[in-house]
Amino acid sequence: MPLRFFNTYSRKLEEFRPCDPDKRKIDIYTCGPTVYSRAHIGNFRAYIFEDLLQRHLEARGFKVHRVMNITDVDDKTIRGTHEAKVPLQKFTQQFKDAFFEDAEKLRIKRADAYPAATDQRYIDRMISMIGALISKGLAYQADDKSVYFRINKFPDYGKLAHFDLTELRSTGRVKHDEYDKEHIGDFALWKAWDEEDGDVKWDSPWGPGRPGWHIECSAMATALLGDQIDIHCGGVDNIFPHHEAEIAQSEGVTGKRFVRYWLHCAHLLVDGQKMSKSLGNFYTIPDVLAKGYTGREIRYALIRVNYRDPLNFTWSGMEEARQSLQRVDEWRERLQSVIRTKSGTRGERMESDAFEQALDDDLNISEGLGFLFSSITETNTAIEQGKLNAGTAQSWLDWWHRINQTLDLEPKEKSISADVFVSGGLTLKGELSPVKLEIKGGPLPPEVQELVEQRAQARLAKDFRKSDKLRDKLNALGWEARDTKDGQKITRRAGA
Ligand SMILES: [Zn+2]
Repeated sequence: MPLRFFNTYSRKLEEFRPCDPDKRKIDIYTCGPTVYSRAHIGNFRAYIFEDLLQRHLEARGFKVHRVMNITDVDDKTIRGTHEAKVPLQKFTQQFKDAFFEDAEKLRIKRADAYPAATDQRYIDRMISMIGALISKGLAYQADDKSVYFRINKFPDYGKLAHFDLTELRSTGRVKHDEYDKEHIGDFALWKAWDEEDGDVKWDSPWGPGRPGWHIECSAMATALLGDQIDIHCGGVDNIFPHHEAEIAQSEGVTGKRFVRYWLHCAHLLVDGQKMSKSLGNFYTIPDVLAKGYTGREIRYALIRVNYRDPLNFTWSGMEEARQSLQRVDEWRERLQSVIRTKSGTRGERMESDAFEQALDDDLNISEGLGFLFSSITETNTAIEQGKLNAGTAQSWLDWWHRINQTLDLEPKEKSISADVFVSGGLTLKGELSPVKLEIKGGPLPPEVQELVEQRAQARLAKDFRKSDKLRDKLNALGWEARDTKDGQKITRRAGA
């Protein structure tokens, strides 16, 4: 099956044909964070989808050039700088830093460029694009001194969002300060300075002011990727008006089709509800990390649902993510142990590209992961029956390393594991003898050893409730305890 994506513009699954099929080079533009607060897990769901898209295209032999903008001036950032009483640059820098920190935790590949809207280069380009739109009759300066895009003069306006202008008239979303516009749907390209903007302003042929949010993306996208872009991504809430406006502005200036494929990621819900601060279900990446989950586990929880389906984030879902990754980790360990202990250098080659084929179909990750887990079940059965030789195990491991280039879910740091053998704890002469631990593979940190020791006592005393509680405590410290016939096996969860 050829590589295909669901294009929001046509509302159809389309075979992917880049602008320049011979070079196998693809340009992607993705709308980045607005740095007025820390990005939440819903934002990161979209960034993870874009990361998956990039990695899959790379797995299929394309060279991807990706640009993600940073919106560091808009109404919200200006409001924030006033409230914090610090200059705009200083206010936004903390959230830029936080964004990169969180993205790194989630192993999101860095884009090739992160242009910022306040960079003078791009401000100049926004101004020249607005000038071009005015000279073509596609924009006008209103009495309030702001410059607006004239949507009635752009017949394709509404095609991405799939509604016509008459619908726009009836929405009735009139703000009191928008009476200067010719049409209610006309959007600001340049917002004239007013007192609330303070010292946030730039000079322009239309007087001091600042750019509208939409023109920022048109200017940065065309400056860095040219007039025509292969793929433009974002969340569904970006479709209208933001991306609709980007098309009108860019095509209004260049006269060329701006984007070939528009890909949009569905919402993230928390416990089935829209995330909001007032509902208390608003989470950032540090909030989830603080609950003891690792970046790798969050990555898995956000990547595993197909991007066009809503993703319902729950704590039990996080627990499932943890268990799924444990299953993968254990499977890899078992394959390695077969390689170490069994003979047979030549095995069946694991050549299937079923995983990649699933992703070719509009990034069907749930089918791809389904194939991974059914493969794990099959191989585990073969291992248990002693039917997997070293060569075949190696071939499976090679396959995993290949698909992990796309998934990036392997622990980065080596996991520490220790086998703990217990002696003592027996009642001798009416007294419980002290538990002695023999630790192989350690050493364990003292607080972990203490809990393991208490747990050994509890198990010897057959106090399984206490034993389970201690296991939870170990878990919260990042350690897994498993009981085997030889004692406890303690493993530190890797990939934090
Ligand atoms: Zn944008």
